[in-house]
Amino acid sequence: MDDARLRESLVSEMRRNGSLTSESVAAAFLAVPRHRFIPDVAVSEAYADRAISIKTEGSETLASISQPSMIARMLELANVRIGDRVLEVGTGSGYNAALLATLVGSEGSVVTVEVESDLAARARETLADCGFGNAAVVHGDGHAGDASHAPYDRIIVSARTSDITPAWWAQLRDGGRIVVPLEIGIGGEYAVGFERTDGRLKGIGIVHCLFVPLRGEQSEIPVGNVFARSADARYATGPRSIKEIVALKTAEASPELLRHADIVVAQPQTTFAITWG
Ligand code: SAH
Repeated sequence: MDDARLRESLVSEMRRNGSLTSESVAAAFLAVPRHRFIPDVAVSEAYADRAISIKTEGSETLASISQPSMIARMLELANVRIGDRVLEVGTGSGYNAALLATLVGSEGSVVTVEVESDLAARARETLADCGFGNAAVVHGDGHAGDASHAPYDRIIVSARTSDITPAWWAQLRDGGRIVVPLEIGIGGEYAVGFERTDGRLKGIGIVHCLFVPLRGEQSEIPVGNVFARSADARYATGPRSIKEIVALKTAEASPELLRHADIVVAQPQTTFAITWG
């Protein structure tokens, strides 16, 4: 099967299993040649709905190209539009940056930040070779975002974290969206989509996900204080699903939050108020 047919069958599979519903995201998956971003992998393997490791250190995976159906769900949460300015943290292979570049079109732009210099260089080259001229790869620590292109309409974090950094808060436009894989001591890892209004982030959807951790100094911060309305809520992690999640800058959070949420997780930068389903 040629690569175009392989993309079609991947898209049909994602539509069937419900991870893909919007036309724009489907069109992006049909347009971006995933196999070009993982040249060491057989073309047919490149279109399986699987994550593939692209950089390891000892037994640790430092980077992998994400599972297509998981990215599809995250992109749908992000609702990226033509003309948007997008920041991605964690370039990896550059594949997701290419999907984003397709979604924003020639009027929009994508800045993607990668901490590993070899990965950044390779992704920059692949994106240029494939004609994604509106995607810029920056080598650096994504905790700081990229102030020179801010503010952003959309921020997509492609690595696991437990907090929203001051830079992401500062660089996200009011009315903008951030999708971020969070592990905040609530039993599991979720990519949470938030919309920013009046300086607070309101959850708009949640996707189960699996990412490599964001590395760097700020990642070593332990899970912050957890406040719960009842002992029941405190220990009821895992099987409980999140119904609602609101995030505020910790400096601006008040005890009021506890009255509205089952559990409140106060990280150094961000306080998350969570209501169970
Ligand atoms: N979006 C990628 C997959 C990302 S994997 C793709 O489509 O292929 C996560 C990436 O985040 C890895 O490449 C890893 O090196 C990078 N990363 C980890 N910590 C980082 C940091 N502090 N700043 C920027 N990138 C980071």
